[in-house]
Amino acid sequence: MAQALSPGEVVAAAMPVPEEEWRENLNVKMICKDCKEDPPELFEDHASGDLMCANCGLVLAQRTIDMSSEWRTFSNDDQGNDDPSRVGDGPNALLNGAQLNTNIAFGDGLKSRELHRAQNKVNLDKGNKSLLVAYKQIGAFCDGWQLPISISDHAKHLYKTADESRLFKGKSTEALCAGCVFLACRQNGVGRSFREVMELTRVSKKEIGRVFKLLEQVHYKDRNKMSVVAGGQMTTNTYQGSATASPAELCDRYCDHLQMSRPTTNVANALAVRMTTEGVLAGRSPLSSAAACIFMAGQLMGEIKTAKEIQAVARVSDSTIRGAYKYLYAEKDKLITEEILARGADPERLPKPA
Ligand SMILES: [Zn+2]
Repeated sequence: MAQALSPGEVVAAAMPVPEEEWRENLNVKMICKDCKEDPPELFEDHASGDLMCANCGLVLAQRTIDMSSEWRTFSNDDQGNDDPSRVGDGPNALLNGAQLNTNIAFGDGLKSRELHRAQNKVNLDKGNKSLLVAYKQIGAFCDGWQLPISISDHAKHLYKTADESRLFKGKSTEALCAGCVFLACRQNGVGRSFREVMELTRVSKKEIGRVFKLLEQVHYKDRNKMSVVAGGQMTTNTYQGSATASPAELCDRYCDHLQMSRPTTNVANALAVRMTTEGVLAGRSPLSSAAACIFMAGQLMGEIKTAKEIQAVARVSDSTIRGAYKYLYAEKDKLITEEILARGADPERLPKPA
């Protein structure tokens, strides 16, 4: 194309028009050209593979693909052959084997029933059956605490490894399940106390403790070994065993139960972290240390929770909380850092311990 140029002007190189990405035009409708009925009433004849106008019978398309299910699952809840699912469950990695074995349907007639029964007898995988029972139990425990699937799957995984180790012969399934849930919670940073597990599972504290010690042996033979996490990143295993349930972890949840504000929760958390690094209250139970931190944070931020209120949530007696607070108060200069002050904490508000 001719173009007038002033002196010194350069012709701009024509940008190539990017080819538009292909996509299906969903506005196209198939309408019978004789009846021109809109919306069209079409009829698929599966036997001949034709798509026809239901009005006049004109064949609009040939060789249609039958999209309906050509087979069905034989699951127990398939009542009256109207199972809408085309396939069964995917293989469950937490069970043994590929679970692709043949099933004979329970149909009418003596022969079919007998075949079904005989096949069931042969195929009944005892190992998987007990695993399923345990998984169900773990699922129920996790539901009780409204834990996410990731944690319940983690607990199931722990259970499977423990089950394979053969170290838990003679231990009740319930106790082992409780131990796995407990350990899974700890490893995922949502620690629970033994008492809480006991209340949830109705397994005695002693029993859970015993199972838990064994579980730790199984899973932490190579503690602090480098492990590969899902992202392909190498990390050291940060889990340090039962000796160090972190009070900071407990703080968050208890503050939540006490309906404390975010800033106060953060202060309680920071206090707990500081307390652990400074070694104040070392040797005390993480529960009572966490409770004392919450008490102190409440006072610092002017969002006061009494020892009685905290007792109801953390389940440590108010005298224990007050006793632990005495130590925190003595070390308050070490604990209350610049960072905590910056969050609006006022050390003047702290009451002198009785
Ligand atoms: Zn027609």
